[in-house]
Amino acid sequence: MSADPNTKPELIPAVNEYAPKEVGELDLYQKREKIYTRSIEGFFQRIRLFTGWPLLAGFFLLPWTRWHGHQTVLFDLPARKFYIFDLVFWPQDLVMLAWLLIICAFGLFLFTSLFGRIWCGYSCPQTVWTSIFMWMEQKAEGSRNQRIKLDQAPWSTAKVLRKTLKHGMWFGFAFLTGFTFVGYFTPIIDLTFDFFSGNAAGPAYVWIGIFTALTYLNAGWMREQVCLYMCPYARFQSAMFDRDTLIVTYDRKRGEPRGSRRVNNGEKPEGLGDCIDCQLCVQVCPTGIDIRNGLQYECINCALCVDACNSVMKKIGYAPDLICYSTENRMEGKPTRILRFRTIGYGAVMLVMCSMLLAALVFRETTDLKVLRERSSLYQLKDGHIENIYTLKLGNRDNSSRVYTLNTDLPGSQWDGPTTITVESGEVASIPVRLSVPEIEWGGRNIEMHFSACLVDETTHCVHHESRFTGPVR
Ligand code: SF4
Ligand code: SF4
Repeated sequence: MSADPNTKPELIPAVNEYAPKEVGELDLYQKREKIYTRSIEGFFQRIRLFTGWPLLAGFFLLPWTRWHGHQTVLFDLPARKFYIFDLVFWPQDLVMLAWLLIICAFGLFLFTSLFGRIWCGYSCPQTVWTSIFMWMEQKAEGSRNQRIKLDQAPWSTAKVLRKTLKHGMWFGFAFLTGFTFVGYFTPIIDLTFDFFSGNAAGPAYVWIGIFTALTYLNAGWMREQVCLYMCPYARFQSAMFDRDTLIVTYDRKRGEPRGSRRVNNGEKPEGLGDCIDCQLCVQVCPTGIDIRNGLQYECINCALCVDACNSVMKKIGYAPDLICYSTENRMEGKPTRILRFRTIGYGAVMLVMCSMLLAALVFRETTDLKVLRERSSLYQLKDGHIENIYTLKLGNRDNSSRVYTLNTDLPGSQWDGPTTITVESGEVASIPVRLSVPEIEWGGRNIEMHFSACLVDETTHCVHHESRFTGPVR
């Protein structure tokens, strides 16, 4: 077939693939939209109350309680001693702190892979403190609509008074938080007297000021910004998620197509899903997201949207749980598995670490013995004897005073120094000791020997430290 000579050949449009494409203007700094959350009540909010209040009460009351003569929990940095109930930790025990942190990390991994960000939604201090600050805001400035109106209104006496009341309450609570936090590091009763009489140490005022300011900023002003931009957990938690992880999710099949409607005893209009597009789930969300857009890293699993949507469903006579806690597998009608490779792995690591920590706590050595030799001379010859001088450093890391007997395994030696000593809790005693052996029995070679300190009430329990006895070499 030949081409018609009168027909113009079809032109192939030439596109320069390398030419710069037209792009929209990108704003690298996203301006923060202020979130006005609506308060809501419901089943999951009651659970949040039960988890939040014990945490708050524990935080504020614990430093005021005493346990066997000391503050129940005290991280005494100047004395380098940490008291937690009956346990006293020293710098030597820092390895246990490392284990504890690893256990907490794996606990968080395990809980995240099973229950998603349940920690963020219910127990994270940022969430709990932000909820309290929001509650104060509501008391001072009113409901969501009243707060929006107040912010848009010009400045007036009423506005100044409401804002002052809100910031006064925020500041008061932030100060209480900062003061209590420092009370975990300085005996809080002394701190209270010294602080209000102006006699506290300078750093105490500085640290209380810093923690007050941080609480005020984080819970009052920054709120969800801390979760979105500052908390590393929000970023890496998705690595622990899988299709069996519990998440807050919107039942798209049931809810779509969404649309407003005239509600009539739970009857549904043709062609519409269950979502009436009331936006209540968005208005209650503390991070300002719309859960109907799917799983988002901003979601802290707080279930405020679940309570909000359930209240709507109840009002219009539809079945609850259009938004609910579920797993991706369950939403697709597949079974949800609790035992998975990752949950078994995290659980196993936690179990091993917990057992090791428990064993380390039970068999923890509470006596330290170190031996320092006299530096100025290796030995002295005195009255037909060879004499070596030592300083024994005996530390008691128990929470009560202990009596020790001191001894050596150097054969035929004479001991010149205390053989029994009481060491107070947390003290390190310095004990000078002279050991001598008759020159006539001296074999001409240095001798490796040990010092020992034995508890008088538990004589089977001794600690040893190796040392050396020196004399003239023959
Ligand atoms: S609260 Fe429920 S019904 Fe209202 S918009 Fe959200 S999902 Fe739809
Ligand atoms: S989407 Fe729902 S669960 Fe997630 S943060 Fe918002 S209110 Fe909380």
